[in-house]
Amino acid sequence: MRCVDKGIAPEAYSYYKDARNDLAGRIGWICSYCEMPVKNMIEVEHVHPINNGGDALDWNNFLLSCRYCNGVKLNRNLNRTGYLWPDIDNTIMAFEYTESEIVEPSAGLTDEIAMMAQNTIDLLGLNRHPGLVNKPTKADTRWKIRTEVLGIIHDSYYDWLEHRSLAFARQIARTALGHGFYSFWIKKFEHEQVVLNEIMLAFPHTHHPQYDAAGGLVLRENGSF
Ligand SMILES: [Zn+2]
Repeated sequence: MRCVDKGIAPEAYSYYKDARNDLAGRIGWICSYCEMPVKNMIEVEHVHPINNGGDALDWNNFLLSCRYCNGVKLNRNLNRTGYLWPDIDNTIMAFEYTESEIVEPSAGLTDEIAMMAQNTIDLLGLNRHPGLVNKPTKADTRWKIRTEVLGIIHDSYYDWLEHRSLAFARQIARTALGHGFYSFWIKKFEHEQVVLNEIMLAFPHTHHPQYDAAGGLVLRENGSF
């Protein structure tokens, strides 16, 4: 899950949906959770649900969500506690994205953090797939889009191996931005630094968390990014 840095609120809002264009301008027209691109009517999501006491108009309580992630999440989290969030946590390190499309807590996490990662996966239904225990509803097509994009990632990777160049790396980055699923691209190209650099540049306001001195996971820097 890409870490996003929304920065400070560009303005005060009297209606939360008015924040949509500002949010998308900062972090892209991409679901903050499943990473699917949503070019049309992406939803302003309250991380801490309003019905559970979350602030309806606070920029810090906003992320962008596809209708599926939002529809699965609903008001089921009482607050932020017990979950990992892409605007305050080192989510890019906390989740593993496998070739078989599975999203799972990364290996080597403490039990507590692994549980938080799993809670986030469950809260958003990120692991729904027809071939798994968690089946998607008929309306939930996230898995389908993910499968299509994984095919594109796979093809791009093998084309890259044959045609390494800076220009081609930039083209791959543009393709990645258009198709979304940042974390899957990052995983596939993890040993191809030239492409990684271009992908990281292409996705706006992607936060790059620091490691600690021992190279370990820093989950939450100073309470938040
Ligand atoms: Zn989503």
